[in-house]
Amino acid sequence: MSLYLTGFGYDIHQLEKGRSLTLGGVSIPDSPHGPAAHSDGDVLLHAVCDALLGAAGLEDIGHYFPNDDPRFKDISSLELLKEVRGILRAEGGKPVQLDTTVVLEEPKLTPFRKQMSTVIAKTLGISERRVSVKATTNEGIGAIGRNEGIAAFAVAVISMS
Ligand code: MG
Repeated sequence: MSLYLTGFGYDIHQLEKGRSLTLGGVSIPDSPHGPAAHSDGDVLLHAVCDALLGAAGLEDIGHYFPNDDPRFKDISSLELLKEVRGILRAEGGKPVQLDTTVVLEEPKLTPFRKQMSTVIAKTLGISERRVSVKATTNEGIGAIGRNEGIAAFAVAVISMS
């Protein structure tokens, strides 16, 4: 019998002009800004990794991939997600479902939501129907509203054998 467990993840990065923006493993073209980060700063994948690790009751993403470790400099966060899938597997865990939201003022992410779902689902070996990627703005409020940052939230369900 499988046990179903839930985890939650959150991430935020500062945005800088002229940097490239990658979200959910998808490169977003013509963005006026991108995250300042040690890795590619993919807040969505970082939140997803933390949600999956949290569901399994494991350590957080910073524990497995310290941001002062040169091995993770400019690494594609899809590589980190693959690692997390392996860490879960070693514990008898399997991703079942993800629900996520990215909070970003601009550019609009709606045209890329489906592609992000597909990439994440493929990396985790689950159906894209089980990976929801939603996007919202912060309605101009606060730091995210001023385009100073980008944040993401994720909830994961995993099964444990
Ligand atoms: Mg991060």
